[in-house]
Amino acid sequence: MNTQTEAHASRGLSASNSRLQASINWFVDLIFPPTCHGCGRVDTHWCDVCLAELNTVPITITDLSQNNLAGLCATGHHTGKLQEAIQSLKYYNTPHLAIPLGNRLTTALQTKQWIIDTIVPVPLFAAREQKRGYNQAYLLSQQVESMSNITCQPNLLQRHRDTNQQVGLSASERRENVKDAFDVTIDVTDLSVLIIDDVVTTGSTLDSCATALLSAGAKTVYALTVTHA
Ligand SMILES: [Zn+2]
Repeated sequence: MNTQTEAHASRGLSASNSRLQASINWFVDLIFPPTCHGCGRVDTHWCDVCLAELNTVPITITDLSQNNLAGLCATGHHTGKLQEAIQSLKYYNTPHLAIPLGNRLTTALQTKQWIIDTIVPVPLFAAREQKRGYNQAYLLSQQVESMSNITCQPNLLQRHRDTNQQVGLSASERRENVKDAFDVTIDVTDLSVLIIDDVVTTGSTLDSCATALLSAGAKTVYALTVTHA
């Protein structure tokens, strides 16, 4: 099997596994009825009351700095309904929450003077994405793409090590954990790239992505996250 065929087969397998995981999630919900991660109501992972409340959380654009990023901005603190919504999106099978959260990102992006050629989500390690059924950063990026007409390239960055367990690590440990963890798979020469993720803590993951992109020839790298912790 040549490399291209292998890549197609790999993507097909990944899509097939994601569908299988979605079916498993649906079946688990049937046996063990879910509760809303925002308020505890039964029979839904995220109820309409919490959705309405989420939509009223003000967008407080916060500019942060990180070595390799020309701009880094978040739409709010990682607290309250925003925090609950992100946790629900990541861990409680609520991909539809990427729509209101992605809309926040689009609104924040519209306030910036950034010239963006392409959007790229922070990738998950493949095995983790298969287990979750989706990459939340990709869903957020898709929503920004649909609202802004800037093309999203989900496979532009690949994570070749499972580095997601950053919780509990110090800033220097986080930096070391994600160092050289990303590969650039598409030509980015002279492109201005926007990285999207759900939350920024120390910024080490975004910085590692930016390092890979700049080393591959990207002109400028920006990053946008829903919250900052
Ligand atoms: Zn609720």
